Order: sequence, then C-alpha cells, then structure tokens
Amino acid sequence: MEVSFKEEIELLKLGEGDTFRGEGILAVTKALLHSGVSYVGGYQGAPVSHLLDVMVQARPYLDTLGVHVEACTNEASACAMLAASINYPARGAVTWKSIVGTNVAADALSNLASPGVTGGALIVVGEDYGEGASVIQERTHAYAMKSSVWLVDPRPNLETIVRTVEQSFELSEASNTPVIMELRIRACHVQGEFKTRANREPVVSSRAPLADPAGFQYDRLAHPPVTFGQEKLKFEVRMPAARQFILDRKINELFDATGAQARSDVGIIVQGGLYNNLVRALQLAGLADAFGDTQIPILCLNVVYPLVPEQISQFCAGKARVLVVEEGQPEYIEQEIATLLHRSDLQTRLHGKDMLQSAGEYTTESILKGVVAFLPETSRAGLDLAQAARTAAQTYLGTPHGTSTWSTNAAHGGANTNLISPRPPTFCVGCPERPVFSAMKLVQNDMGKLHVGADIGCHAFGTFEPFSQGNSILGYGMSLASIAGVTPFQQRRPVAIMGDGGFWHNGLLSGVSSNLLNGGDGVLMIMKNGYTSATGTQDVVSSPEDMLKRMAGANSATHTQMTIESTLTGTGVKWMRTVHNYRVGDMMKTLKEALTSKGKGLKVIIAEGECQLERQRRIRPINAEKIKRGERVVRVRYGVDDSVCTGDHSCIRLSGCPSLTIKDSADPLKVDPVAHVNNNCVGCGLCGEVSHAATLCPSFYRTEIVNNPSGWDRFITGVRQFFIRLLAPRAAAQKAAA
Ligand code: SF4
Ligand code: SF4
Repeated sequence: MEVSFKEEIELLKLGEGDTFRGEGILAVTKALLHSGVSYVGGYQGAPVSHLLDVMVQARPYLDTLGVHVEACTNEASACAMLAASINYPARGAVTWKSIVGTNVAADALSNLASPGVTGGALIVVGEDYGEGASVIQERTHAYAMKSSVWLVDPRPNLETIVRTVEQSFELSEASNTPVIMELRIRACHVQGEFKTRANREPVVSSRAPLADPAGFQYDRLAHPPVTFGQEKLKFEVRMPAARQFILDRKINELFDATGAQARSDVGIIVQGGLYNNLVRALQLAGLADAFGDTQIPILCLNVVYPLVPEQISQFCAGKARVLVVEEGQPEYIEQEIATLLHRSDLQTRLHGKDMLQSAGEYTTESILKGVVAFLPETSRAGLDLAQAARTAAQTYLGTPHGTSTWSTNAAHGGANTNLISPRPPTFCVGCPERPVFSAMKLVQNDMGKLHVGADIGCHAFGTFEPFSQGNSILGYGMSLASIAGVTPFQQRRPVAIMGDGGFWHNGLLSGVSSNLLNGGDGVLMIMKNGYTSATGTQDVVSSPEDMLKRMAGANSATHTQMTIESTLTGTGVKWMRTVHNYRVGDMMKTLKEALTSKGKGLKVIIAEGECQLERQRRIRPINAEKIKRGERVVRVRYGVDDSVCTGDHSCIRLSGCPSLTIKDSADPLKVDPVAHVNNNCVGCGLCGEVSHAATLCPSFYRTEIVNNPSGWDRFITGVRQFFIRLLAPRAAAQKAAA
C-alpha cells in the first residue's frame, strides 16, 4: 500500500506519561501495546482499516517487542487466529468490519467462544451501522448474544477507548471469554488525546518462545461431548464472572444529575457509543452543558452485553420513568431491562422505541426528538424541533425497497434544501473499472440486456448512474455464486463482476470452484486492479511484486508469486482472456465473444488496469522528483473542441467521469451547453475511447503537457504553431488580442 503511516508509527513508540494526539482507531493500536498483546491480525474494512494498516507497516518496530502481525486473507482466518489464546496465556487482537465481516467469521467465532480463552482475546469491529453502511440494518449485538461473547461499546473519547481496550483483555481473562469491541464510524474518527504508558512486552511472544506446546486437553476443543459442558460453563461460570468484573472495575459509568434543576425521578440508559450524541441532544434541549454536566442522571453502558442486573435495578429504583437509548432493531437491551424490572418488581415505567425512531442511525437530531418526547415538560424555549425532525427523517433509512438515500431525501419534498444536495458516489477520476462498465453498456445496446451479478468493491459503483448495472449483491466475492441459479433460465449468459480483492477473499472457492464442480456456465469479469482498493488499497496476494515484498517485511523471504491467471488455469478454467480495461473496443469484442461462444463452461475475462488512485499516489512523487531534477516529464490530458461538440452529451452518459462536465457554449447558435474536460483529468483516455467505440463524435482531442521540454519538443511545437497560424489566422489573431 502506498499510503505511509510513518507519523502514526512514531505514536506507537510513545512512552510513560507522553501525550498521544490523534483519532480513536489509532488510540486502539497504542492501547493494544499497553496491554501486552502477543499477536494482531485482521481483515481491512471501514472504519477500522487503519488499525491493521498501521500495524502492518509498523512490523519492524513490533518485531522488537515480539508482537506478531498478520494481514489475514479474510475475517474467518482472522477469527481463527484467536485460537492461540485458547491454550496459551497469549493476549491477541484481531479486527474487521462488521456486520459483513462478522458474518464471514461466524463459524470460527462460535468455536472460539465455546471452549473459551486463557489469554485475553479481543475483536475490534468497525460497527458500520447506519447511513452509508453496506448492510445498514444489522448489528454485531446479535452475534455477541448468540455466541455468548461480551460486547463492549465505549464512550467515544480517547481516554475511555484506551481504558476499555485494556479492561477488555482483563475482562476476557477474568471470564475466559472473548470480547468484541464495537466502534462506530464516529468513535473511530473522534479526535482527542491521552497520556500514554510504556509498551508492555507480551508474556508469550516470538522473542520468548515456549519450550513445549500446550498439553492435550479435550475440553479445549469445540467438539462433542465437551460442548455440553461448555454451554453450562458459559452461563453458570463465565457470565457471572464477567458481571462481577464489570461491577468491580466500574466499566459502566454513572453520571449523576447536577445543578439546581437536577432530576432524580427520571433517568436515561444509553449505549456507550451513543453517549456523545445523547449529551449533545440534552444540551440542545437545555438539559446539559457542553461538558456533559447533566440534569438527568445517565447510566452509560460501556459494556452492552452482558448487562449487570443489580446495576440496572439500582439505577432504576426510585425513578418514575427511564428512557433506553439503543440504536437498531430488535431492542435487545430494552427488552432485557423490561424483564429485569419485572422480575425485581420495580414499577419504573420503561421507554425507548416508543419514543425514539424504531431503527436507523441515532443521530443527535433523532435522539433529540426522543428526549423531547420523554421530557416534554422541559422543552427549551426556541428549540426548533421541526428542523430536528426533518434532519432525523433524512438520516433514517426506513426506505421502501428500491429507493436509495438520495432518492429518499428527494422524496422528502425538498426538506433537505438547506442541507447538501443528493449526490451518489462514483468511481475516482480515471478509474480503470469505469471503461468496463462503458463497454458493457455498449454491448447491451447491441445485444440486449444482461443479468449482472454485482459484488462488493469499487466496481459496485457500476450500479449507480450512468451505468445502473447489477441485479443483486450477495456479498464479498459472491457474484459468480449468485448467478448459479439464474444462468440456466437466461437466453444470454449472465455476467458476474468481481474484484481481485473479492476473488481472493471468497470468490475463488465460493464462485469459481463451485461453478467448475457443477459444470456451470456464465461469464466472470474480474477487475484486476492490483489491490483491495475500496478499503484503502491494501495488498492482495497478486499485488505487484514490490508491494508484496515490502508487506512481507524484512524478516520474511517468502512473498507470494500467485497470480489470478495461474490460479484459474490450475483450477481448470479453459476459457480465459486478459484485456486492458481502457481498450473499450477490445473489451466489447471480448465480452461479445464470451457471451456468444458456443461451448458450455465458465468464461473468465480478466480486466487488467491498475487502480488509478494508487497509480497516481505512486507516480506523482516520482514525476515531481524528476521535474525538480530538470528531467523531461510528459503528462496527458484530454479535451473537447467546443466548436465540434454538438452538446448531446452521450460521452458523459457512457463514461460517467467526474472530470467530464459541461459549460456554456461560446457559439450563439448552440443553445445546449457543450462538454468540457476539467483540470482533474488524469489522461486515462476513456472518454476518447468511448467516443471512438460508440462512433460518437470527433470532438475529443489529446494533448501532452511537457515539463522540462527537450530541444526537439521546442522545435516541433514551433512548427505546429507556425502551421496553426497559417491555417487559422483569425483564431490566432483573436487569441493574441485576448
Ligand atoms: S480506488 Fe481505485 S479502483 Fe477504486 S474507484 Fe478509485 S481508482 Fe477505481
Ligand atoms: S481522459 Fe476522459 S475519462 Fe479519463 S480522466 Fe480525463 S476526462 Fe476522465
């Protein structure tokens, strides 16, 4: 990966009493080292990618501590890595994006939870719930409950996050149970500071290897018949131990009401991760100040599973009403508290989903609505609740099937006119995946519509305008598997789109092997851009060799030579073509061949083109250096000739490049605006290629910007200018006058 985390790595080295300044997810990396972690692994994904990225680049320093770091090939392998903590007093941490990653890791999670752990095991998940998430309506909470692993949800400030990481390891060891820490996007990116401690050397590490492996203990296996005993242990020993630890260490926090207006008849119980939003809502309602001093007592649950019954009962006792602020559905916490109150015969009236929105992200505005419903008597004068309701409605995605965030916003009758305009995401300027969708669009113009199995990755932007391609998305690397049942009843072969990240994560096994095993058909289009780009351009096993060498680190001589092509050949794929993405005409021809080829069997097209974001990161510093040294550097740009462009904009509809925009025509006879290429153009050439492949128009021109031109460059430019002046004297005169 080209992004450098040099400064972040320096933060990891801070010692006793230093000050760490940065964001939440980086604070976690430092807290892992405070805790004496022996090994770290994971699979990248928003919003926790930085944890692993920093650790991977910090390998040389971590080697000196004896901390082993592994970039796992998917979440299942990351979770399985925690097996080291079953038998040994080794603390381990892994990370991934939830809920999608937890789905992948579910099998290993069950079998880790069953025997339990000796060393502390921590799973840091990016709780990607709410607007912008890929599976917006699911939470990790259900997984924690079904596997009986503890779920911590710290208040989003750096001190609390760091303290909770360390307490999570202790909690894990005190109850022999893995712990999941869920961090929402806001918690990962919250900025702050904390006093650091010296990094602790792990008890068991690569620097202090054990003389012998652990002895054979059958009850350390998730295997019958000991699993029956393990179930009993979970609820009769481990859970009570966890509850006692949570109480003893005061992990959940009680914020008493303060000031002259302090209330004792009501209270609020909130998930730790939502605490900041709650306090802001209370502040807007005139019930708290910016420092969190509140008129309403708050029980902040930094551990949301398991709850501690006596703590809940104690908080509710003597209060007439309590509001539970819990994001998402079902309302697990609220239901459990209702049961606890009933069992304790407490008459406190419980509120939650009856006053807060039933599901969706709990923004400050949505919590404010609930708080005002809960405490109408305290509503602050001048509070614009109508505005809060409008904003909350826009972020609550209880949308009917088929509508999207931006169309939902628009459907709110312009309620968001004072907010940002709806704007779907799209590929980067010059992305190599865009031409493939242009080619697919042109092929479908010629041959008719195709069923398209879409996938997770940057190529999912192909489902948006102007391409609008994709009939289903079933998961990362699942596109080929998702067309298995569709293919037999289609007249034209369906096409599955998959990235190289998805291919190695799951697609090779779930898609290709399954297709071959069943003698399947269909077309698999693999976007070979060299990285798992969507999560931050991390390396995959088939990344360019120099990247992999760096990732393997100085202590490893073994970097992989795997390629997608050799792997597919090895599995027995017979029909395979590699096409350069930007050659739209070639891509169209190859796709048509794959769709019409007579023989049955999987047809694989490898669309080759390096991620443009990564390419630009790579070549820009190189070019800047060359220019500084006085060397000749040529950059390509494309443009549109105003006088030729007819203003029909089919180039924009076919390429969708954000650099391709419109401007007013200087010609008074042309009423429509003309196409225009702005300065962000990276010169990929797609717009010109598309115009050519679709036989659109000849208005595109290619130009070269030459830094430090040679004598020949100057001579040829002089000749060109001479002929231009000769052939277009009026234009030259106008230009000179301007
Ligand atoms: S990150 Fe790379 S692959 Fe993803 S949209 Fe940008 S250029 Fe394309
Ligand atoms: S050449 Fe065309 S498609 Fe490529 S970046 Fe420039 S404007 Fe966009």
